[in-house]
Amino acid sequence: MTLVLFGGTVVSCLDPPMIERADVTIEGGRVSVPGTATDGGTRLDCSGCLIVPGNVCAHTHLYSALARGMPYGLAPPANFVQILQRIWWRLDRALDEESIRASALVGGLEALLCGTTTVVDHHASPNAVDGSLDIVAGALEDLGVRSVLCYETSDRDAAQIAEAGVRENERFLAQRRPLTRGMVGAHASFTLSTETLDACVDVSHRTGAGLHIHVAEDASDQRDSVERFGMRVVPRLEKAGVLHEGAMLAHCIHLDEAETASVRESGASIAHNPTSNMNNSVGHAAVAALGDRVALGTDGIGADMFAEAKAAYFRGRDDDVSLPIGWPTARLAEGARFVGRLFGETKLGRIEPGAPADLVVLDTPVPTPMSAENLAGHWMFGIASRAVRDVVVAGEIVVRERRLVKVDQDELAAVATEVARRLWERCSSIGPHGFDPKGGDAP
Ligand SMILES: [Zn+2]
Repeated sequence: MTLVLFGGTVVSCLDPPMIERADVTIEGGRVSVPGTATDGGTRLDCSGCLIVPGNVCAHTHLYSALARGMPYGLAPPANFVQILQRIWWRLDRALDEESIRASALVGGLEALLCGTTTVVDHHASPNAVDGSLDIVAGALEDLGVRSVLCYETSDRDAAQIAEAGVRENERFLAQRRPLTRGMVGAHASFTLSTETLDACVDVSHRTGAGLHIHVAEDASDQRDSVERFGMRVVPRLEKAGVLHEGAMLAHCIHLDEAETASVRESGASIAHNPTSNMNNSVGHAAVAALGDRVALGTDGIGADMFAEAKAAYFRGRDDDVSLPIGWPTARLAEGARFVGRLFGETKLGRIEPGAPADLVVLDTPVPTPMSAENLAGHWMFGIASRAVRDVVVAGEIVVRERRLVKVDQDELAAVATEVARRLWERCSSIGPHGFDPKGGDAP
């Protein structure tokens, strides 16, 4: 099927910024050369609109999508570890197959409606591990979201759950799905034994997939590594064989200079999650020093990458007023390059002939002159997800006039509300998780 988006202004690349007035022709899931449409197909009038590359959320947890509004009856958490023990490590144990699917659908719906075409997810459901990634992949395929999935292997629960996590990653990596790729998921150094981390690296070596792991999100991760292994987190991961070009390291906040250099030189990607970092009060990553492989994620707080780019900018400027205005849009472009490498699609994230057609039509007035030179200024101080009108993933229209195309979004929300009610009830009967990192509380 041919699709032609005509009359719009095309942001064909975010890094370096490129803008042109052009029609976009899509055939066979890809952008084709303008004017080559072989049949009538579908024509979308994009007059007055901006057509931009679909955003990528480089680190999220779709399993948390039904936590929105969840009642909380325990003593308020006083630090990051308590946030895990009292919220997320209770919720993940309450997940069953039905709520895994509903969470993925709700998270995927939110992604598409705000112009995010790919999510890089880190999934945990310790009491429903086997087959869980198929459920997430199936839900996202039903909506038309591109994804990179993994299971969050961890020793915080029973030994057989850690083993099941390793197995689930390997099982999923053996599949070939058009819109989904896999990684090897591991929670974080502080919940991984040597044996389990080695098992993850072993799967990584055998499949060629990199690890997706939280790194030094909180200082407790460093204290635990020093106490148990006599070295900091990054040297531990480096020694285990985690640090290389295929890896995705989430957060990277509490790194010293040597660790920052190791990460930068390894070629690994880094997911920077500024909103989540502020929400959890875990500190600010020295992201500028980590190099060009930094992408942006939400860590599960929605999937609005227009908002996350602004959060990255303003939190960055709070620390350093010289942070360039084009830094966040370059980070969005890097997220697309990361996903492009996994899909073998070097043009992902660009709107040019041969690129996978993942793009977003923004119905938004542009009230001041716009050019490639000042695009980042428009992005930071004007463009927002409220303008998302249509979304195309792999050449298929998946959002049209602000509504999902492939799934009834009202019905989805009604079903999810019922599933959430049951999930919250199960969660309320689960106590705080007993797992503690070694190395004690903050000094
Ligand atoms: Zn995370």
